[in-house]
Amino acid sequence: MENLTCDLLILGAGSGGLSVAAGASQMGADVILLEGHKMGGDCLNYGCVPSKALIASAKTAHAMRHAEVYGVADAAPQVDYAAAQAHVADVIAQIEPVDSQERFEGFGVRVIRDYGRFTSDRVVEAGGYRITARRIVIATGSSPLVPPIPGLDAVPYLTNETLWDLRERPDHLLIIGGGPIGMEMAQAHRRLGSQVTVIEGAKALGKDDPELAQIVLDQLRAEGIEIAEEALAQEVRGAAGAIEVEAKDGRVFKGSHLLVAVGRKANLDKLNLDAAGVETTKAGVKVDDSLKTSNRRVYAIGDAAGGLQFTHVAGYHAGIVIRSALFGLPAKTKTAHIPWATYTQPELSQVGLTEAQAREEHGDRLTVVRFEYSHNDRAIAERKTTGLIKVMVVRDRPVGVSIAGHQAGELINLWSLVIANGLKMSAVSNMVSPYPTIGEINKRVAGAYFSPKLFENDTVKKVVRLVQRWLP
Ligand SMILES: Cc1cc2nc3c(=O)[nH]c(=O)nc-3n(C[C@H](O)[C@H](O)[C@H](O)COP(=O)(O)OP(=O)(O)OC[C@H]3O[C@@H](n4cnc5c(N)ncnc54)[C@H](O)[C@@H]3O)c2cc1C
Repeated sequence: MENLTCDLLILGAGSGGLSVAAGASQMGADVILLEGHKMGGDCLNYGCVPSKALIASAKTAHAMRHAEVYGVADAAPQVDYAAAQAHVADVIAQIEPVDSQERFEGFGVRVIRDYGRFTSDRVVEAGGYRITARRIVIATGSSPLVPPIPGLDAVPYLTNETLWDLRERPDHLLIIGGGPIGMEMAQAHRRLGSQVTVIEGAKALGKDDPELAQIVLDQLRAEGIEIAEEALAQEVRGAAGAIEVEAKDGRVFKGSHLLVAVGRKANLDKLNLDAAGVETTKAGVKVDDSLKTSNRRVYAIGDAAGGLQFTHVAGYHAGIVIRSALFGLPAKTKTAHIPWATYTQPELSQVGLTEAQAREEHGDRLTVVRFEYSHNDRAIAERKTTGLIKVMVVRDRPVGVSIAGHQAGELINLWSLVIANGLKMSAVSNMVSPYPTIGEINKRVAGAYFSPKLFENDTVKKVVRLVQRWLP
């Protein structure tokens, strides 16, 4: 076995690992990157990218079916599911070079295509090498959690790793799990022509504000998706093409295919973390707020760290690790400014606290301002008037924003900036938005915060009357 040494050893070439590798190598560190499977990790190969590409196909089919309102005859789309999946593969192929081994070798990173395994607190073995590193980053991501439902192992089921290999459209897709992944895939498949049933043990989209989640669920149901809530799957039976899921309360759901989307589990099995003295929790590697593990040489980032599991979080973590491991500077993670979005139509997005969380934390000091999409002219022009933004404000500063509606994932960007920089509502109301844009919703909700102070205020009225009397 050959010995190698480096400043920084990164395990996993997904969103987090690649961001650390790119930044650290370009800043002069000697970096080794290990990847046991595909460069690009989950986001590129099995997650964000394929799901958003399939959603784009589904949106197109849906728009054709509902064109008449715009003066264009409705058309029944001829959906070729295999071609839609080929489009997904093509989108992945277009993005792939950015995450490729060649590109990273161009940065001077040594890429070894194997799974890494700790043999001591600072040594990892992979690909026939024994690698000793000054600092090590665990960026091994997560895998679909497959719950121990009796019968599940005896039927063919899909996960986010195998869904993209499907070439025949499912006649009736059963989805266990009503979180963002389940809901995005439910709507995409319904719009591409499948029957879809979502089986959710608690509340669908249960991590989001219930009022806003309801807006999305109403739309999904209106499109013909059956969403069974409080339906904890307790048995699965059948065979390929005829699968049954029985819920705890006796309800039975029948379909041709089954997608399991109940959550994620951190990829830690292959790491031999005991040898490194790295402790874990149920969610993933145990880290402090600077992403250091119980071994001071080792960091964990992204999905492996078990917190918010998003690509942009893995990227954010990468910046923290670079600051700490390369420059020895203090760097701490925060979560108050981390947004997330679910890419159904309408979209659902969140940054900071939900209304319920803000009420619990801030009590009477909280003001919640709301603005409906139906008052936005661009939304009216595009007939996308279903939606709502809520901003939770404490002492003139937003502490959380929830949006359900057209382009909610785009609108949340501004609020992430506002919260990250501790800006006040006045910063948003002072902004001039081009008319007519959906983005005006952000300015209008800030206006709604100030209007009672301006328009329902007797002092303001008195001052205006007084000034008017004095003006020439
Ligand atoms: C269907 C789906 C849709 C999603 N959509 C979105 C979205 O729209 N927006 C968003 O922000 N997030 C989305 N996510 C989440 C996002 O994909 C993850 O949060 C992100 O990929 C995490 O990045 P990571 O670097 O932590 O892990 P990953 O990207 O999973 O990368 C980890 C890599 O480590 C490798 N590895 C594992 N063990 C080892 C080892 N021992 N040695 C070497 N290599 C190893 C793996 O093979 C993998 O390539 C989605 C996820 C799914 C499943």
